[in-house]
Amino acid sequence: MPYAVLDGNVYRVLARIFGIDIPTNTPQAQKWFSALAQELLDPDNPAGHNQAMMDFGAICCTPSQPQCTLCPFQHHCRARLQDKVAILPVKQKGALRKKRTFHYLILHHSGQVYVRKRSEKDIWKGLWEFPCTETPISEVLLSAAMAKVSGPFRQLLTHQEITAFFYEMEFPDAIPQEITESGLLTGCQTMPFVELKKNIAFPKVIDCFFQSKALTLK
Ligand code: SF4
Repeated sequence: MPYAVLDGNVYRVLARIFGIDIPTNTPQAQKWFSALAQELLDPDNPAGHNQAMMDFGAICCTPSQPQCTLCPFQHHCRARLQDKVAILPVKQKGALRKKRTFHYLILHHSGQVYVRKRSEKDIWKGLWEFPCTETPISEVLLSAAMAKVSGPFRQLLTHQEITAFFYEMEFPDAIPQEITESGLLTGCQTMPFVELKKNIAFPKVIDCFFQSKALTLK
């Protein structure tokens, strides 16, 4: 089945012609605009239709100073009729990004560190990370070892703003019970520290931490 292309040009053209003021960077808008674009798609020439929509947005219905007086839709375009050309399409700023704070524990024991592969239906599925919690690390855990804390490090995603702190702890003997019984190591495995950065991929925020040289493990 042929699909209607939905790029920035198409969003703008549809938002203006139909006078749609749903912020285009929201999941709701994506559904709404896709359904509309799909309904308008010419089934006899979908490729030509898609190209024409994108070209029209790039050449005539441009982000600033669109060619309204030359436009074939000027007598039907809601944005033009309602004097909203300059404000459509609408984008929602900032508010949509959900803020999350990740607390990573870097537990170093006999040249090994604990890591796990993210497998939940969440961001960064398939990438690796250190044991992580989104609730602040308790004093009990921090007192289990002298933790070196680094951060904040930030990574912006389309709908989320991630802030990360890293708690580096070295245990010459065993990992203390406070940590093994906390559930933080669920799904983790140990890996020689020297192999860590060679063989597995981390999210950008962890790479930023590595690049900051805050990590003291060798
Ligand atoms: S009239 Fe202006 S705003 Fe409306 S579709 Fe044409 S170029 Fe775009």
